Amino acid sequence: MAEKIKIAIYWAAGCGGCDVAILDTNEKILDIAEAADIVLWPIAMDYKYEDLYALEQGSIDVCLFNGAVRTSEQEEMAKALRSRSKIMVAFGACAAWGGIPALANLFEREEIFKSSYLDTQTTINPEKVIPLTKCKVPEGELTLPRFYNRVWTLNQVIDVDYYVPGCPPTPETIWTAIEAIVSGNLPPKGSVIGSLKSLCDTCPKEKTEKKITEFKRPYEVMIDPNKCLLEQGIICCGPVTRDGCGHRCINANMPCRGCYGPSEKVADQGAKLLSAIASIMDVKDEKGAQELAATWEDPAGTVYRFSLAKSLVFDYKKGGE
Ligand code: SF4
Ligand code: SF4
Ligand code: SF4
Repeated sequence: MAEKIKIAIYWAAGCGGCDVAILDTNEKILDIAEAADIVLWPIAMDYKYEDLYALEQGSIDVCLFNGAVRTSEQEEMAKALRSRSKIMVAFGACAAWGGIPALANLFEREEIFKSSYLDTQTTINPEKVIPLTKCKVPEGELTLPRFYNRVWTLNQVIDVDYYVPGCPPTPETIWTAIEAIVSGNLPPKGSVIGSLKSLCDTCPKEKTEKKITEFKRPYEVMIDPNKCLLEQGIICCGPVTRDGCGHRCINANMPCRGCYGPSEKVADQGAKLLSAIASIMDVKDEKGAQELAATWEDPAGTVYRFSLAKSLVFDYKKGGE
C-alpha cells in the first residue's frame, strides 16, 4: 500500500457543518482512512495547542481549514497550520469567501457586542460585562483572543493553495477533492476544485427570458416547479454561482443562495448578481427601478449571503483590527 498522506482538519469561525460533512461521506470515510492519517482534528478528538506546535514545519501533507477568521486565535492557528502544511485548502464557503459569519461585516464590533451581550431580550447582564482581551481576577490575569472588527477569508490572512466550495461541500464534492489530493491530480494552484459551469447552466427549470415585475419571497408565491424561480420574481443566485451541489435548493423549489461561491470568471458574486438582476427588471425609468427595488427584502444579505468578505464593492472595512 502506498504511504498514507497526513491530513489536518481545523475549524475557525464556522458552524461545524463542514466537519460533519466530512463524516457524511459515509462509507467513503473508510477510503479516506485508508488513504490518510489524520494528525489533527480538534472537533473530533482532544487535540491541544501543543499537539499542533509539536508538528514539524511542512510535516502535514494537506490541511483542510474550514471557517473564516474572526479572532486573533484563529489567525494564529491558520498561520501555524500554514507553515506545517504542504497544501492548504480553504474548505467550505466560510473559509473561501467568508460565508455566513462574514455577514457580520455589515456591522461594527461594538454593535455586535451590544446586540449579543446587552440588548437581546433573553440577556440578563446588569453589570454590562462584555468580552475583554485581558481581565484581572483574584487568581491572576485571564486572557481571551482579540475579536477583530471584521471577518477575514482564509486567503486574506495566509497563502491558500485550493478551495473546496459549499456550505457545506456535498459528499461528492469532498470526495472529488480528496481523490485529487491523494492522487496528486490537482488543478493549478489557486483553483476551486469544482465545476467550471454556473448553476443556471445545469438547472433543469425552464427559462423563457421573462422580465421581473415584482420581487417575491418564496412563501408569497404559488411556485411553478418547472419554471425558473428568478423569472417568477424569486431572487435566485444561480446565474453567478458555481455548479456542483446537485441543485440541492433548486430541487426543493427554494432559490439558490450562492453557497458554492462565484462561478468561474466572476470576481464579485454579489455585484455580478445585482447587475444580472438589473438587466431583467421590467422598468421604464429610474423611478420605476426604485419602486421595484423597494419590494426586495434584504438585498445585501441575499446577493452576498456567502461572499461578503470578498466583495470588491462593499469591502469598506479593509483594516478590520
Ligand atoms: S461553510 Fe457552512 S457548513 Fe461550513 S462551517 Fe461555514 S457555515 Fe458551517
Ligand atoms: S436562476 Fe435559479 S431557478 Fe432560474 S435557471 Fe438559474 S438556477 Fe435555475
Ligand atoms: S442551490 Fe445554491 S445555495 Fe443551495 S446548495 Fe446549491 S449552491 Fe448552495
